[in-house]
Amino acid sequence: MQDTLNISNKVLTRKNLIYLIKKYKTPLWVYNADIIIKQIKKLKKFDIIRFAQKSCSNIHILKIMKDNNIKIDAVSLGEIKRALIAGFKPHNNDIVFTSDILEENVLKEVVQKNIPVNAGSIEMLHQLGKISPRHPVWIRINPKFGGGHHIKTNTGGDQSKHGIWNSMHAISIIEKYNLNLIGLHIHIGSGVNTKNLYQVCKSMKNHAIQLNKKIQFISAGGGLNIPYKPTDKEININEYFQKWNNVKKKLISTLNCPIKLEIEPGRFLVGQSGILIAQVYSVKKTQKNIFVLINAGFNDLMRPVLYGSYHEITVLHKNIKDIQKIPLIRGIIAGPLCESGDIFTVQDTGIILPRNIPSVEPGDYIIIHNTGAYGSSMSSNYNSRPFIPEILYEKKVFKLIRRRQTIKEMLSLELSL
Ligand SMILES: *Cc1c(COP(=O)(O)O)cnc(C)c1O
Repeated sequence: MQDTLNISNKVLTRKNLIYLIKKYKTPLWVYNADIIIKQIKKLKKFDIIRFAQKSCSNIHILKIMKDNNIKIDAVSLGEIKRALIAGFKPHNNDIVFTSDILEENVLKEVVQKNIPVNAGSIEMLHQLGKISPRHPVWIRINPKFGGGHHIKTNTGGDQSKHGIWNSMHAISIIEKYNLNLIGLHIHIGSGVNTKNLYQVCKSMKNHAIQLNKKIQFISAGGGLNIPYKPTDKEININEYFQKWNNVKKKLISTLNCPIKLEIEPGRFLVGQSGILIAQVYSVKKTQKNIFVLINAGFNDLMRPVLYGSYHEITVLHKNIKDIQKIPLIRGIIAGPLCESGDIFTVQDTGIILPRNIPSVEPGDYIIIHNTGAYGSSMSSNYNSRPFIPEILYEKKVFKLIRRRQTIKEMLSLELSL
């Protein structure tokens, strides 16, 4: 366990953090665009990087992607609208709509704008084919196995609702309606280990050869993990790319058509760029435990409660202290929600897990790290707590990219009827 100042980079200095806290109040999210760009560069060998925006869907984050030639994945009408506002174009394959169902309002939008659809069910192909012949489509194949850091993020295999089980059947529907098959896609889950990632590679090769259709794209999907724990290793991107590139080459020669290789990460691009800053309001000692109560809850950051996820936690003391002289405590970091599960230091069974942190008192700050992915984008208004602000550090300045929701705004849906 270290002090924030030790593990943070040059941007998240004590001076900067205190400035942001004074200006925007806590809790708040802060992102560093430099880290996003660093991550993008690691994937530059892939022909196309498509950002899974559900991991962090702020329009200003999407603009960073756009400015760096990243394409975008949208999984709802709201995400399509966000992408369009951020400057992505409906044509030239900028946006792909990936889903397992097609609601009427989405169907209308993708048909009107000719946005390619990555179909995760046969029904979607029927719906599209009936009203939009020659519509560009991908097939999202369920490769009959899955992966992921948690059962809830496993998107392949028998237990998963995702993807098309019988891809041959999908081809026959595509041919029936004369839809334009442009790509094959496999995404088996989020936070996938290397072994499973490589299995996907093989599965793509086999499926593509078996289907034997001329396609323009193959997508390796997302799921690349990031080091959340100090002991976690970074994935070897070069090796990963080589395996996929070999599949691409093989398919180009077997299917006799040019093929581009896509990758579709969310967490890998944004996870490490974000932190959540909250303030300590109470340090409560029970017979066995010390609860450090902060003003952010699982309505803000849901991952620990939902998956038992681990996030690095550091302390920012209100007054400068000699960190070497501060005793460590076994703290349980908990939020303000009226629910006993509102804990940030938990095992995946949901059982509380004390963490060594420097001793804190009310008024000090807690920083939860690596929250750029599935942080803000998973937030809710539970306990009627408004959405908290997002700040972006970009081109050497901090700027507000989402202001704090007011209580009035939160209640307006019920009052303005
Ligand atoms: C969630 C998702 C991703 C991104 O997953 P990460 O683990 O954030 O990389 C990619 N593709 C699809 C279809 C997804 O649903």
